[in-house]
Amino acid sequence: MKLLSHVVNLIFPTKCQNCDSTVSADAATAYFCKECWQGIERFDCPCCPRCGLPYTSHPDADNKSYYEQSAAGHLCGNCRDKPPSFDMAISAGRYTGALSEAIKLFKYKKKVHLGKKLTEWALKSPLVEDTLLNFHNPEYLHTTHTLLIPVPLHVKRLREREFNQSAIIASVIGRRFGIPVVANALIRHRHTRPQVELDGKERKENVVGAFSVEDRKIIEGKEIILVDDVYTSGSTVNECARVLKKNGAEKVYVMTIGRMAG
Ligand SMILES: [Zn+2]
Ligand SMILES: [Zn+2]
Repeated sequence: MKLLSHVVNLIFPTKCQNCDSTVSADAATAYFCKECWQGIERFDCPCCPRCGLPYTSHPDADNKSYYEQSAAGHLCGNCRDKPPSFDMAISAGRYTGALSEAIKLFKYKKKVHLGKKLTEWALKSPLVEDTLLNFHNPEYLHTTHTLLIPVPLHVKRLREREFNQSAIIASVIGRRFGIPVVANALIRHRHTRPQVELDGKERKENVVGAFSVEDRKIIEGKEIILVDDVYTSGSTVNECARVLKKNGAEKVYVMTIGRMAG
């Protein structure tokens, strides 16, 4: 079998899943060439302090007001108009190119080890690392009151996929920072269509009433880090945060690997 796969590799060398070029043996992963993997855009501030929307500087160098305003911690238009239920959301990088291809391979092609690698990559993003390290700072938060909760899948989807990608991401973060992962406190009792198939308004309606808290005692008074793979419109994590807070969670922070908007 080993010899056969070696011969197959010689005849059909591995292609980068993002650009189709041949992947060299020293690539960061077996699926992407060095250029594509290193080309993934990591987020760094300035961004909206509430939803994490990254701000870009104004193309006109003389007009920096938008950039300067955002750098000073101003909320984005969406958060000003309708503040989300979560207290803060952070993402490691822009959901495009190799990052989106890697997340899709992880999620839909059962490449679980890629999920672990992506999480380790995300934890090296300055915004994510700085924020999570603060959870160990007693002046900022109380680690003993912090829980990691993955966005749950409906039992039907969990059976199809065989694993919850968010739970895998949460377990890597939990091990690294010593924060407990609670995967059964929040449940998705309604089967919903994937958010990526829908537009903004539909996304919101799609998830309303889809989640519930199984045991309120687990989350009461806790600071929750809600974990998902991708922040699409924010509707899913916002609905989860609303339900968690309604059931007594003190704070809800959101962490995702990729972010679509912005
Ligand atoms: Zn490539
Ligand atoms: Zn915002």
